[in-house]
Amino acid sequence: MFAAASTVAGDLANFDPDAPMVPPDLDHIDITGPLIQRSRAFAERDAPDLAGPEGSLRRRSARAPPIAPPACSPPATRPMTATCCLASPSLPPTSSPDAPRNPPRTGSRRRGHPVPSGAHRPLAALAAPASPGASRPIARSRGTSVSAPTMPAVAVHPGTPHSLHLTELPRPEPGPGQVLVRVKRVGVCGTDREIIEGDFGTPPPGERELVLGHEALGEIAAVGPDVAGWTIGDLVVDTVRRPGPCAACQSGQSDMCSDLEYTEYGIIGRHGYMTELFVEEPDHLVRVPADLEAVGILTEPLSVVEKALQQANLIQRRISTWNPKTALVLGAGPIGLLGTLLLRSRGMDVVTVARRSAPNAPSRLIAGAGARYASVRETTLADIAAELPPIDLIFDAAGNAALVFEAMRVLGNNGVIVLLSITAGPEVEPAPLNLIVREFVLGNKVAVGSVNSSKEHFELAVDDLALFERLWPGLVGQAITRRLNGFADWRRINDREPDGIKTVIEVG
Ligand SMILES: [Zn+2]
Repeated sequence: MFAAASTVAGDLANFDPDAPMVPPDLDHIDITGPLIQRSRAFAERDAPDLAGPEGSLRRRSARAPPIAPPACSPPATRPMTATCCLASPSLPPTSSPDAPRNPPRTGSRRRGHPVPSGAHRPLAALAAPASPGASRPIARSRGTSVSAPTMPAVAVHPGTPHSLHLTELPRPEPGPGQVLVRVKRVGVCGTDREIIEGDFGTPPPGERELVLGHEALGEIAAVGPDVAGWTIGDLVVDTVRRPGPCAACQSGQSDMCSDLEYTEYGIIGRHGYMTELFVEEPDHLVRVPADLEAVGILTEPLSVVEKALQQANLIQRRISTWNPKTALVLGAGPIGLLGTLLLRSRGMDVVTVARRSAPNAPSRLIAGAGARYASVRETTLADIAAELPPIDLIFDAAGNAALVFEAMRVLGNNGVIVLLSITAGPEVEPAPLNLIVREFVLGNKVAVGSVNSSKEHFELAVDDLALFERLWPGLVGQAITRRLNGFADWRRINDREPDGIKTVIEVG
């Protein structure tokens, strides 16, 4: 049984079901109403018509057949589902990991990118990082070379497993309407690891390399002409995705892209942040208060969870009495942990389910936020649910399709399960599909996929990092369990960290 210490992780043994769900420090914020009170999108605009054409296009794009790459394209793959930032699988696949995913898909129209192309070269044998401002000859398209300032960067050859190497990029200068951002640290996530494994990733047009990194905290290093409101030293996080031509992208919702023609820093068509500097248009930047410097690197992964919660709340406008109190989070990687904190900050009773037995780094962090941790080695979702009130909301960040189907069965009536992870395993999971369908119909349940995030979700994430720090000082920072030393440790980026949660690279 769920409450029995013999079948659940140790953290759960101390769980008091009658304890208040809202930490005392929450008294100063308004969490008494539905969660939608925290959704800017909800407050500022009507919910989109989820049954409209964009909704159907979202699914269609995931089923589109692969498109042959143009003959001149470098080897490149691209996820069938959008990528950044996916939950890292923390639970094992139930069977073969060989199921096809991320089949080649190119032929897309690429848009301009801020880093000059064709001007960096691999430095696989480089023993030491280039010093800032170093000058190296840069090959130019006409075969001549000039000396220009360069900076080190960590790159891969997309599609080639374990091609991680150091390269060089030209040191950028901000043009009119741009700022120069100095990278302070970069987060490493499951998407980076899959790019390193060669599963996907697309270089900028005309290039063979892709500089990694899509989670970055930086500071303004210079301000170009015609830029107002930014000061050298301001902390910023850059939004990752840039829009393609589809209606959703053009309306400002590139996270709802319908044709996957977008680009993403460090993932698709744009060099990432594992370097020293980048230039950006300020509209794409999100400010991070100086007192969040230590945890601001978590803005991007938290933005993914912010979107998930927003989606759930937008969907649940269908229910006038929606006021969720009980949640499950599947997976205790960065996405699962940040989802746990987010739901706890809204006063929900949260059980986070992962594979490893407690105690471990995630279980300690989860307990620190007043949530409970359960190991599927010791109990089942059915047993967990049997000890809980009806489950209103489930975030899946575990990467296990079988667990998703189990979760669908324990979801309460009128509940929502938000799928945030790409699952591994066979295409057809053994599951009681008739029962699941029946229960979804009779219980008005919803399953929804959610990927990536928009600028508003980044802004919500910054606000909530501040909230987390007020509620649980120092807790969210414990999710950063390994810090690598700039470009000296680049070979260790893909190393697995026992009992680790989040790796960051300290750049500058
Ligand atoms: Zn689009």
